[in-house]
Amino acid sequence: MTMVPELVDRPVSFAYNYRMRCSCGGVEDLSAADYEAEINEAHIPCSRCWGSIHFGRAVAALRNLKDPALENEQLGRLAWYHTSTSPDWPSLTYEVQERQRLRDFGLVTDEQIAMLSGLALHVGTYEAAIENVLRRMKYQDDRDSRFFLYRVALDLDSTRVETGYRDENEQRAARLSNTELRAEGLQAVRYLNVYESPGSLSLAVTADAIAAVHMVDLDGHGLVPDHDAELTERLDSFQRDLDAARLRPLPSPREPISAMEQLQRRAAARRGQAVDPGRPTGPEFYRLWESIDSILAERYLVGVNAIVTREFRDAVRPRRRDDDGAVRAYADFYATRAFALTHPSALIAGLASRPAAALWSRPAEIDS
Ligand SMILES: [Zn+2]
Repeated sequence: MTMVPELVDRPVSFAYNYRMRCSCGGVEDLSAADYEAEINEAHIPCSRCWGSIHFGRAVAALRNLKDPALENEQLGRLAWYHTSTSPDWPSLTYEVQERQRLRDFGLVTDEQIAMLSGLALHVGTYEAAIENVLRRMKYQDDRDSRFFLYRVALDLDSTRVETGYRDENEQRAARLSNTELRAEGLQAVRYLNVYESPGSLSLAVTADAIAAVHMVDLDGHGLVPDHDAELTERLDSFQRDLDAARLRPLPSPREPISAMEQLQRRAAARRGQAVDPGRPTGPEFYRLWESIDSILAERYLVGVNAIVTREFRDAVRPRRRDDDGAVRAYADFYATRAFALTHPSALIAGLASRPAAALWSRPAEIDS
């Protein structure tokens, strides 16, 4: 069995707030609630230059100035996280799938894919790893994918870590290759993550920097308790309302369908889903589902900040279906995915107690 050093976990919370940078160099705090509400048309005053900061990802600043990850010597002592749809990250399979995924979504040309060969591996905070799942569900058509959470131990030479951190807004960090890192004699580059848990530090590392990983299936960890009786009753009542709405006569085929419905049908066709012309997608269903979502958020996203709550709700929304038993299935999925945001200690404790995966050894030609 692979020996894993005792790793230190930084406190995990999705109740965090943000910090935003002014062009004058000043940095101001911004609460998640104000960020979500885009107060004052997304502007806050800067107390340094008395101008105003147009807040958003593009000016997200480091949240924790005392983050131990700023010290090279600490990097190997800290627990790092990664999420993937691959059950054997970081493996050859993973790399092949990753390239296929980029190609499928037209994100890169074949030429660029060749250049991306041997992409550096990325690890970040627990929060960043979990928020990565939400982003992929929302933007990369992974709404139905299984996700695996990895807790990563690094074995780093602290003299081969780039000084300071790159700002993902201004410098290339997310698509660094192993070759580029090696060319600079580096094993790791720190960067300010502005997409997942904005303002946290992530690392791009060469494969040889990963000492061991523990993995847990985010949909199969079995830690989520059943819904309580009151919630179950409300969910069943919603199901009855949905069923009743579905059984009402549909508009006659000659009746023009709404622009929203046309969009939904086109989106379904793009995803390769069968488009049922009788499938109800009207405002009544939308209203019912929004109510279900609000009740689930109230129950299962306690202590999660407003921005992450919105990301979560956007990520799970496409999982709504209108058939029999759909509400319970949706609520089960919701509770299971939300557990990772509200009970990080339970998941981490479970992860840390598992035997470490014997690490796949990368064939030399992949890295070169
Ligand atoms: Zn300023």
